[in-house]
Amino acid sequence: MTSTDQQPFLSVRDLKVHFSTEDGVVKAVDGLTFDLAKGKTLGIVGESGSGKSVTNLTILGLHDRDRTAIDGEILLDGKELLTASERELERLRGNKMSMIFQDALASLSPYHTIGKQIGETYRKHTGASKKEARERAIEMLKRVGIPQPDMRVDDYPHQFSGGMRQRAMIAMALVCDPELLIADEPTTALDVTVQAQIMDLLKDLQQEFGTAIIFITHDLGVIADIADDVLVMYGGRCVERGTKKEVLRAPQHPYTWGLLGSMPSLDGPVDVPLNPIPGAPPSLLNPPTGCRFHPRCTFTEKIEGGLCSTEQPLLKITDGRGAACHLTADQRREFFADYAATRSH
Ligand code: SF4
Repeated sequence: MTSTDQQPFLSVRDLKVHFSTEDGVVKAVDGLTFDLAKGKTLGIVGESGSGKSVTNLTILGLHDRDRTAIDGEILLDGKELLTASERELERLRGNKMSMIFQDALASLSPYHTIGKQIGETYRKHTGASKKEARERAIEMLKRVGIPQPDMRVDDYPHQFSGGMRQRAMIAMALVCDPELLIADEPTTALDVTVQAQIMDLLKDLQQEFGTAIIFITHDLGVIADIADDVLVMYGGRCVERGTKKEVLRAPQHPYTWGLLGSMPSLDGPVDVPLNPIPGAPPSLLNPPTGCRFHPRCTFTEKIEGGLCSTEQPLLKITDGRGAACHLTADQRREFFADYAATRSH
């Protein structure tokens, strides 16, 4: 089956990922639903432990199968991934879907040249000869902006700078023209200039190949640069979804307001003090009852009957837009307007 406008390229339905630890069951992802079309970028944002990386490792089938209980549906171009065999997943990883990790040094082998690592990935999935694989590696290094690629192809990872290693990893992830690319904080460890170059590179490659991208980050500034749609995760659940403009300009969830308040204003005065969210992300071994954000939320007294701590707010999505909060639409508008006013003075 081929993806069409009616059928998204990637479709995740009510995904639950729970894994066993010595201390109990961690509910890392607890009912996540989203779609992604070809050529589009979904930004998944949230603090550490919100479930964003686990979601993507599960899509790629890289979770520990013995200790993980998974429920729901993940359809990639119509193919159900949760029931696919390890062999099928291995085939799909590389030529259909691929991932860029945060730490290129840890992801590249120090014992093999950059060219060999890119070329081997290509050979594995296409059956190309060694010569063809080397040519392809040079072509990919050139495409990701490595100068003198025909010379640098024989370098080892330690001979590359941090930014070049990240580019090499992108080259490796894209060598088989994957249709889905998952980028997990790919620029966090890089300086701002290199970060901007990598983001431009991903956008160019997406335009060229029509790749669908999931971009995982804790940084809403990065989301503002690259995403089409945004999914905000908290405590293993989606708390807000919408287009980039909707989520960044008119957010509806107190957690998203908190995330925006803890970063420099995107277009307001530069001297507005940052306002980090109080408290820490919840334990997923023993998550809070009701709304998982309630121990950190400053709006709980606006909801009658202590509902925030007893009843989980439902995520109602209309036309791709929604937030999981007991506040009414009018309350959200009013409180966000108050918040925005404090950010513009
Ligand atoms: Fe805050 Fe209650 Fe809304 Fe959760 S449901 S975000 S605790 S107001």
